[in-house]
Amino acid sequence: MFSDDGHCVADPQLMRRALEYVKSFGGFIAQHAQDPSLTSWGTANAAQMNEGEVSAVLGLPGWPSVAEEAIIARDVLLADYVGSRLHICHVSTKGSVDIVRWAKQRGISVTAEVTPHHLLLTDELVRSYDPVYKVNPAAHRS
Ligand SMILES: [Zn+2]
Repeated sequence: MFSDDGHCVADPQLMRRALEYVKSFGGFIAQHAQDPSLTSWGTANAAQMNEGEVSAVLGLPGWPSVAEEAIIARDVLLADYVGSRLHICHVSTKGSVDIVRWAKQRGISVTAEVTPHHLLLTDELVRSYDPVYKVNPAAHRS
C-alpha cells in the first residue's frame, strides 16, 4: 500500500500512473481526498472548517464537501479505468459514502474507512474556537 495521506494527489495523471504501477504487484493506493484548489490548501486563506452557516458566522474560510467528493469520484473512475485498487482514507461526507457505494455496486475495487470524530462531531463545536475540533478533513454539518 502506498499513501499520500495528508497531501492529496491532485494531479489526475499522477494518480493514474500510481494506480497502474501498484497494480503490477497487487498493491493499492490510499488517497487523502482533498482537492487543494477547493480548500485553498497551502495559502493564507486555507479552509479552517466545514463550509456552511457556522463558518460564515465565525468568519472562517470554509471547506466544501465537494473538495473531498470530487477527488473520490475522480479516483474511483481512474481505478476502474486502469483496473486497479483504491482505498479512501477517512471518508467524512454523506456524498463520499454515496460515491463509494456507487463504485462498489459497479464492481470497482474500492475500500474506505471513517474516523470516530467524523461520526460523532459536527461543525457546531467549532463555535467554541477550541482548536481540538479543528480536524482534517473538517467535521461536517451532519
Ligand atoms: Zn488524511
